Amino acid sequence: MKNDIAISVRGLTKRFGGFTAVDDISFEVDRGEIFGFLGANGAGKTTAMRMLCGLSYPTSGSGTVAGYDITRQAEEIKRHIGYMSQKFSLYEELTVSENLTLFATIYGMTDRAIKEKSAEVFRMLEMENMSGTLVKDIPVGWKQKLAFSAATMHSPDVVFLDEPTGGVDPLTRRKFWEMIYRASSEGMTVFVTTHYLDEAEYCNRISIMVDGRIKALDSPQKLKEEYGAATMDEVFRIVAKGAKRGD
Ligand code: ATP
Repeated sequence: MKNDIAISVRGLTKRFGGFTAVDDISFEVDRGEIFGFLGANGAGKTTAMRMLCGLSYPTSGSGTVAGYDITRQAEEIKRHIGYMSQKFSLYEELTVSENLTLFATIYGMTDRAIKEKSAEVFRMLEMENMSGTLVKDIPVGWKQKLAFSAATMHSPDVVFLDEPTGGVDPLTRRKFWEMIYRASSEGMTVFVTTHYLDEAEYCNRISIMVDGRIKALDSPQKLKEEYGAATMDEVFRIVAKGAKRGD
């Protein structure tokens, strides 16, 4: 990455026909930052994230991710990011080890690097004796940690996590956040969407999207001060009040 800015967008907009899903958003994310991307259902988070990952072309506006232009260098962006979806993106009918190898191969790693990195992941997750187990047979908490490891095997500059903790119990979620912190302390930038407002407290900064626009953006502490709220849940309710989209 050229400098310490991992993500930078200016006036990013996406229209589907006459409907504006993402409406003129601008923000920057520092290298190594954990950036929470919040918003009610339909606010435009996924649409914005797809543009940042080089998967969808903006109607207008500009931006860079890991130093690459989101409109002109989508292929480079794909090589320098990791992505973990809500469904953990793993193949249930493949073993733990086969899943890691598959992702690493897609990300262009050499056989030797895959072997070394897989061994490191198994050690770190204490999963050495599970490498031959089918993913469908391992508990959800392991699946989640494995999916994160698969998405970051190639040491991407930025990892995008789309509701990575959906449907997972609080203790497992906490453990998952320890992995996020470790990745960030090693310089990886983490861009994460979540519906759990307690998790918003773990982020360095939070943006709250309402009806396609960013309505609030700051650290959890500053947002609570600004809105006179005790929790992020309260901040969210104040900011999202009057939203036309969502439930
Ligand atoms: P959720 O939390 O439910 O995933 P979100 O904030 O990610 O919500 P998006 O999926 O980005 O929201 O959707 C934003 C709006 O854009 C929604 O009203 C959605 O119906 C609309 N939308 C998304 N993709 C398309 C598309 N391909 N064509 C038309 N409308 C779309």
